[in-house]
Amino acid sequence: MAVPKKRTGASAQAHRRANWKGTVPATTTCKHCNAIIPTHTVCPECGFYKGKLVNIKGAQAEVAEVKEEKAAKVTEEKAEKPKRTRKAKAEVAEETVEVKAEETEAKTEETEEKAE
Ligand SMILES: [Zn+2]
Repeated sequence: MAVPKKRTGASAQAHRRANWKGTVPATTTCKHCNAIIPTHTVCPECGFYKGKLVNIKGAQAEVAEVKEEKAAKVTEEKAEKPKRTRKAKAEVAEETVEVKAEETEAKTEETEEKAE
C-alpha cells in the first residue's frame, strides 16, 4: 500500500479542495405526471417508470396497512397487559405490607424481651 512520504500541509489541502465543485443532479420530467424527478428512478409522485405503472405506491400502501394492523394488535396487547400487571403489583404490594407489619411486630416483641 502506498504511504505518503510527508504530511500534506494546510495550504496544499486548501489548494486541492478549492477545485472541488458540486454537480447539479440529473433530472427529467415524468412522462405521466410531468413532475421533475431524478433520472432512472420510478416517479415518487405517481409510481410510473418510462410511462409504465410500476405501482410502487400501491405496494407501499399495502405495507403501511399491514404495519398499522400489526401496530393495532400490539397496542391492544399492551393495553390488556398493564391492567393485569397493575393488579398483580397491587396484590404483591399488599402482601409485602402485611409481611413487613408482621416483621415489625416480631422485632418489637424481641426488643421488649431484651429490655426486661
Ligand atoms: Zn409521475
